[in-house]
Amino acid sequence: MSTTAGSAGTQTETTWDVVVVGAGTAGCYAAATIAKAGYDVVVLERKTETEAGHIACGDALKGADGFPDVIPKSALEPAFTNTDVDHGRFELPQEDTVLEIPIPGELAVVDRLEYGKRLIDGALEAGAEFHYDTVVTDVVQEGDRVTGVEAIRKGESRQYDASVVVDGAGSLSVLQDMVDFSESTFDTNVDFSQFSSAYREIVHVDDPVEWSDALVFKPTQRSAGYLWYFPRTETEINVGLGFQMSEEPMKLVEDLKRDLRSRPEFEGAEVADKLGAALPTKRPHDSAVHPGFVAVGDAAGHVNPTTGGGMAGAAYAGAYAGQQIVEAIEADDVSEERLWRYNERVMDHYGGRFAALDVYNIMVMGADLDELTSLIAAMPGDKLSEALYSGSANVGWKVKLETLFKSRGHWGTLWDLYQTKQRADELLAHYENYPSSPDAFPEWQRQRDELMEAVYETTGTDPKY
Ligand SMILES: Cc1cc2nc3c(=O)[nH]c(=O)nc-3n(C[C@H](O)[C@H](O)[C@H](O)COP(=O)(O)OP(=O)(O)OC[C@H]3O[C@@H](n4cnc5c(N)ncnc54)[C@H](O)[C@@H]3O)c2cc1C
Repeated sequence: MSTTAGSAGTQTETTWDVVVVGAGTAGCYAAATIAKAGYDVVVLERKTETEAGHIACGDALKGADGFPDVIPKSALEPAFTNTDVDHGRFELPQEDTVLEIPIPGELAVVDRLEYGKRLIDGALEAGAEFHYDTVVTDVVQEGDRVTGVEAIRKGESRQYDASVVVDGAGSLSVLQDMVDFSESTFDTNVDFSQFSSAYREIVHVDDPVEWSDALVFKPTQRSAGYLWYFPRTETEINVGLGFQMSEEPMKLVEDLKRDLRSRPEFEGAEVADKLGAALPTKRPHDSAVHPGFVAVGDAAGHVNPTTGGGMAGAAYAGAYAGQQIVEAIEADDVSEERLWRYNERVMDHYGGRFAALDVYNIMVMGADLDELTSLIAAMPGDKLSEALYSGSANVGWKVKLETLFKSRGHWGTLWDLYQTKQRADELLAHYENYPSSPDAFPEWQRQRDELMEAVYETTGTDPKY
């Protein structure tokens, strides 16, 4: 790092190999990966050191056993407050039914602040530097290429120059509004209506809840939203809800309170913490790279759009971006082409799956909630679980016939669901052919958009993108 100190009224300029904006999951994994490779990296975080890592979240962490080695599960484990959770409990009051559905893979409910601190420690140990109280306000660009950011650090103006800027600033990141992306394929087809607004409280109850081994889900009154009850311990529960912003706004705090009041286990409960935020419930960015610039995690839409789970995607995105950036710096070439491999790895690992899952989100927008819940109540739990996480489920003939029998009265919806699954499968197959360079990207995107037209036609919904 080199410094040019500013005199009174001027800006202090520092030069780094990489500047990472945001000390969340994605930013920490990116910073740790780059620092471990021996490069100078600074993480700019708008929150104070005490508040950093305090993120609005349901605290359900999935698949940490496979997280990138650079900050391994063992470093995060002290934040795991409940590892007994192994299934989802879907409460369908309209049907007077509770579905117990297995959740595949490893799962923990975490103390989110402690988890956030452990991530920061992981990046610090790898050699990254953190600047707290530092709000990034602008992006510096020379021609096409992003060459740094401007920020206010503890009230002082600063410029951070770098070979690459990583945008890990989370959902609705302001950085992407400031970059001129006209000469690259970076995805700018992003609109607030593709996001969800969500709110959660941490509440303490006197007696252990009976469902401390489950993630509890419940549909909200309107479609495209759900309430959750995730047990951090038997008596400390993360309760929250969210809705897709294309829908009429919900009164999140009031709606949550109403549900809490209706549940005897929350009588006399005390609220320990409250937070709300937006989260991307959309397909991942088609491309998240531009010369000198890479977006990771929520800033690039790396969230499972049906569950809202984004910590795992953020961890992988951070590590993949970090590895690609190191390669680019070593080749002295931070072009879109050189950074492109990062897009491919994301799409290959989970991006295609999330894009396919988004098709079901789109379907829900156009569906009748009562119809849908009745149908879900008639479906086999393990197959639902497979569909929720893999983007596809193979249902054998025996199960198909059983479902058909149980769901009589909802065959219209079942047919719609079947057709939607066909569209989702086609899309998943198309993402398997994600191009290996920006040159082939426009044609891939054109074909993908054709598949999306078929999705809107099948689901009878307005275009989401
Ligand atoms: C209510 C809610 C519940 C959720 N529940 C779950 C769940 O149960 N499980 C799960 O896996 N995921 C869940 N998610 C999603 C998950 O929280 C995110 O996907 C994940 O935190 C994304 O990590 P990230 O590093 O990309 O962004 P973030 O964790 O949001 O980190 C971004 C960081 O950037 C900083 N920042 C932003 N702008 C600037 C700026 N201009 N200058 C400097 N710093 C800046 C922020 O302060 C923040 O620290 C939930 C999200 C919400 C909102």
